Amino acid sequence: MENLSHFCSCTDLACPLHPAKHGKGCAPCIQKNLRLKEIPNCFSDLAEGLTDRSGDSFTEFANGVLQEHK
Ligand code: SF4
Repeated sequence: MENLSHFCSCTDLACPLHPAKHGKGCAPCIQKNLRLKEIPNCFSDLAEGLTDRSGDSFTEFANGVLQEHK
């Protein structure tokens, strides 16, 4: 099956929404994150402070980014 999102850095290969599991690229992951108001896993690569976050909420993401810029 073609992987449209070869750049995906998410290591949760057990997730049924992971691009390696279907031919729809990021769409199912983005759809889930929009519905839950969460940040996709690949965004955790953007700041060191996000590596040990406890969740994927907007607040966790914002705190992780701010931690790096203190
Ligand atoms: S949005 Fe989801 S599927 Fe797409 S690259 Fe990021 S973690 Fe992977």
